[in-house]
Amino acid sequence: MTDSINDYKLPDSRGYFGDYGGSFVPPELQDVLDEITESYLAIRKDESFLKELAMLNRHFTGRPSPIFHAKNLSEKIGGADIYLKREDLNHTGAHKINHCLGEALLAKKMGKKKLIAETGAGQHGVALATAATIVGLECDIYMGIIDIKKEYPNVIRMKILGAKVIPVDRGTQTLKDAVDAAFEAYLEDPVTQLYAIGSVVGPHPFPMMVRDFQKIVGIEAEQQFLEMTGKDPDNLVACVGGGSNAIGLFSAFLEKREINIYGVEPAGKGFKEGEHAATLSFGKPGTLHGFHSYLLQDEAGDPLPVYSVASGLDYPGVGPQHSLLKDIGRVNYVTADDKEAIDAFFGLSRSDGIIPAIESAHAVAFAAKLAKKEGKGKTILVNLSGRGDKDIDFVIETYGKEYGL
Ligand SMILES: *Cc1c(COP(=O)(O)O)cnc(C)c1O
Repeated sequence: MTDSINDYKLPDSRGYFGDYGGSFVPPELQDVLDEITESYLAIRKDESFLKELAMLNRHFTGRPSPIFHAKNLSEKIGGADIYLKREDLNHTGAHKINHCLGEALLAKKMGKKKLIAETGAGQHGVALATAATIVGLECDIYMGIIDIKKEYPNVIRMKILGAKVIPVDRGTQTLKDAVDAAFEAYLEDPVTQLYAIGSVVGPHPFPMMVRDFQKIVGIEAEQQFLEMTGKDPDNLVACVGGGSNAIGLFSAFLEKREINIYGVEPAGKGFKEGEHAATLSFGKPGTLHGFHSYLLQDEAGDPLPVYSVASGLDYPGVGPQHSLLKDIGRVNYVTADDKEAIDAFFGLSRSDGIIPAIESAHAVAFAAKLAKKEGKGKTILVNLSGRGDKDIDFVIETYGKEYGL
């Protein structure tokens, strides 16, 4: 058990994955981050921390999440067999609870009183509010007022869970300004608060820490798949926003070179600027939110507007380890657009009775294409990162007619 999150070679001690990652922050914040890194490196070897996290993963989240052989979908396609790692069955309905519990428990062990974070669509806010409650911490979530109106059910969830939702009314009134507001609040009191980032992004140590907490997905999957089929999967597929669910699955398999790995980015409405969020496919290296990575940016290095039908994939940057994995060619980064994702959303619902999150539907859409290409006898393991209940109102309003509803 103790080895599950301790066996990494990357990043280096300064938080670099090759040329990517690092920490680009003001000096006063650097001191705080250094303290978090030190505490994390000590605490992740601590038996009582690992035991408590394992207990919560099992009895609170409901891990291990099963792997399901989507036979109906596979038969419909008539190619490779598609298997789903069911992160949608976790308590709170997605993989985000895995790293939120880790971050909450770390904060508790460091003697913090409060977790702070921003949220866009509210998924990270709800998972963090849940983790804060079970671990016994206060929780402040910063959210743009436009997002508060758009994602009202998640605002209510956070409040019911006892978190404070702090409206941000400056600038774009969405995620970007919520990040700034949350960081300012954090800097006012980094002693009793911990900033909990929602993906494998931000300055060191967050890309490392969040990955380590998500690696449980890959560790379970490797063993479960072997028990089910007697082999490793031939292909892995996961959607990539910031990249946490993808790196969680991929991490356990990176050294097995014979396994093909695919990260699926959102192509949105097409490949024109502002109409997608396919950072690795169309971006260039740059610096944003305190770390160096591929970035969708203009000539001046400012982030470009991004769009995807899946609000969880809608980010102009990407986790630094993915940038390295792209450059060394270990992972193939591909795309699925809005239409393909919505097709897969209905497709999986109607073939196998599983309503996927629109984010996860991007991975299912690409897996279906890959299954055709790979053909019978091959296998594909998809990380089904979350359930689609949060998306049903939007899908019916926007696409209902097209799908006969
Ligand atoms: C947030 C979210 C994502 C995207 O985040 P990653 O860090 O790229 O995993 C994907 N799927 C679901 C269900 C999400 O809630």
